Amino acid sequence: EPLLDVRGLVVDYAANGRRVRALDEASLSVPAGGTVGVVGESGSGKSTLGAAVGRLLPPSAERVGGTVRVAGAPVFELAPATLRRMRRERLGMVFQDPVASLDPTKRIGAQLRLVLGRRADKRVLASHLERVRLRDPREVARAYPHQLSGGMAQRVAIAMAMAAGPELLVADEPTAALDAQVREEVLDVVFSLAADAGTAIVWLSHDLAAVARRCARVAVMYGGRVVEDGPAGQVLTRP
Ligand code: ADP
Ligand code: ADP
Repeated sequence: EPLLDVRGLVVDYAANGRRVRALDEASLSVPAGGTVGVVGESGSGKSTLGAAVGRLLPPSAERVGGTVRVAGAPVFELAPATLRRMRRERLGMVFQDPVASLDPTKRIGAQLRLVLGRRADKRVLASHLERVRLRDPREVARAYPHQLSGGMAQRVAIAMAMAAGPELLVADEPTAALDAQVREEVLDVVFSLAADAGTAIVWLSHDLAAVARRCARVAVMYGGRVVEDGPAGQVLTRP
């Protein structure tokens, strides 16, 4: 059984009294430890697919059909407590705007403790922040999200998403807002942490070349569907 199994996923949004079909029977299957880049132009449905995996679709998603399974569990049928546990322990998610996924009212250390458990001491917190190559981890733990640069905040978001050693990481353009050098550093962190932990990555991006450098497999979305799926080299060289 694949780790992630998306089958025939249909998502309709209601916007300004109109219905937009964002996903039109999209399917994707990812094995444990796999790295899959999901590419496609803006509006092709990448973000909707990523959000659906964590059952994090916005309220305007008024109709959802098809199935999403993570490690066999049907995401749209889980009880709220089970879903929360799945998100905390098995499924990490990072987004374009790291500050949006952090709580502005809590220090970084306090937020990390929500994932690691209250008993995580300063040394443990620092080790998780060091793992994403943050310098001065103890200072970062004392900071609030708005006190961090974009690259630092994204590293923190990655540390939180990876803290529990999840089986799957969904990354939706986590480097789009960063400058080129920081972008590569953040990607190095994501892919090396995931490789060490055996975490599968679904990386959503409009940048086919960047995805093909990092991911063994590339899936191409168009009009809410996965229209191509194969080894990165093959997808990249197709006309
Ligand atoms: P991306 O291509 O990364 O999804 P977008 O600019 O398309 O970025 O979307 C940014 C945010 O706006 C997302 O949260 C998305 O769900 C939301 N969004 C996108 N299109 C619409 C729309 N037509 N109506 C309302 N919200 C939208
Ligand atoms: P991508 O991530 O590839 O840019 P999205 O999943 O963001 O694609 O968008 C797919 C389609 O759904 C687009 O037509 C977009 O405008 C629409 N859409 C996305 N988010 C929303 C939203 N929150 N409300 C309404 N329409 C949306």
